[in-house]
Amino acid sequence: MAESRVWHPFTQHALEPSVPEIVLTEGAYLHKADGFRILDAISSWWVVTHGHRHPRIMKAIETTASSLDQIIFAGFTHEPAERLAEALIGIAPAGLDRVFYSDSGSTSVEVALKMALGYFRNIGAPRSRIAVMEHSYHGDTIGAMSVGARGVFNAAYDPLLFEVDAIPFPAAGREQETLDRFEAVSRDRRAAALIVEPLVLGAGGMLMYPAWVLAELKRIAEASGTLLIADEVMTGWGRTGTMFACEQASVSPDILCTSKGLTGGTIPLAATIATDAIFHAHFSEDRKKTFFHSSSYTANPIACAAALANVEIWRDEPVAERIAVLSARQAAGLQRFRVNPYFTDCRTTGTIAALDLRTGSAGYLAEIGPKLRAFFLERGLLVRPLGNVLYLLPPYCITSDELGGLYDAIEEAGERFGSRP
Ligand SMILES: *Cc1c(COP(=O)(O)O)cnc(C)c1O
Repeated sequence: MAESRVWHPFTQHALEPSVPEIVLTEGAYLHKADGFRILDAISSWWVVTHGHRHPRIMKAIETTASSLDQIIFAGFTHEPAERLAEALIGIAPAGLDRVFYSDSGSTSVEVALKMALGYFRNIGAPRSRIAVMEHSYHGDTIGAMSVGARGVFNAAYDPLLFEVDAIPFPAAGREQETLDRFEAVSRDRRAAALIVEPLVLGAGGMLMYPAWVLAELKRIAEASGTLLIADEVMTGWGRTGTMFACEQASVSPDILCTSKGLTGGTIPLAATIATDAIFHAHFSEDRKKTFFHSSSYTANPIACAAALANVEIWRDEPVAERIAVLSARQAAGLQRFRVNPYFTDCRTTGTIAALDLRTGSAGYLAEIGPKLRAFFLERGLLVRPLGNVLYLLPPYCITSDELGGLYDAIEEAGERFGSRP
């Protein structure tokens, strides 16, 4: 084959000259042309929920494509978008009543931030600050990077990122510091919103915190009139054990962002779901109060139909049971690593399991990621560590045996690459 002209995401082409080609996806597997199967232990970057190409979702895509492609969504509507909006409102935490479509997690976050600022401007009490949690990730567009953790990934763009009020991650035993800091940040009522990943900070290293902290953050936000934006782009659709992670804290955010698992991980779609109060702040005969946001492919009918089929799968198949079984297996599977000297901080929330590999020097740490990736890939396993954080975030169809193989490989990786305390 001629040299590829494709520029891949998060890929240093100088160090990774060849990228494996996938010709077929099925259930928990990616297949190469030569028949080599790779177990997708990270759900293809956290998007695939039930398994690759669930027949019902693929069928909905096919059927819809025979009558609809893309329709301008300003001034027009279509059945898949209408039905999906109703379905999402039925599933989302109480009080979330208006669905705004976009096409990726990052854009759903941009929309949420714009809604929050628009809300305060339109009610005549402008607020312009955003409070964020340290180590968060909300996407790679400029606004989403601004509210996410700063580091090597966005150092070059730092001059463009806006200032935020950061509260510390609620590490075990230090939760009160987080709450106190948020209380202090909210006091002057300049923060339009606090944006958080509920229960699990994904790209920041699969950091987990308890539901009561989220409930307390909501309480403080409410007391100061600060909006709570729940970025459930990764945590949604059962990943943490419940449909949305907020449910575990009995929290209804003012705005909820969903994307990755929305179509079961088949095609791109996102939704930002807001309260009636936020919608009504933009509802006016004054055109200046319009919510000025759109993207060309807003509410693509085929994507909406895929998402509707996903909702129907949740309704008709024992998805919740599957998730409960997988969550229990993950919790049990990590037990053996709690006494393994090469690992620390074994943790699970719902279907997500994570543990930190003990490494020597920081320089080695920077190099370890690609080495681990190659180690797993040789064994037919797609595991993509975040630095020294190994995690499994599998599709819900993964079997007990497949999980066992993953734990065995992780154990071997510990002996090969880890260092003892
Ligand atoms: C992946 C992710 C995003 C960004 O979603 P994209 O579809 O990649 O733009 C935003 N927030 C969270 C919590 C994510 O995990």
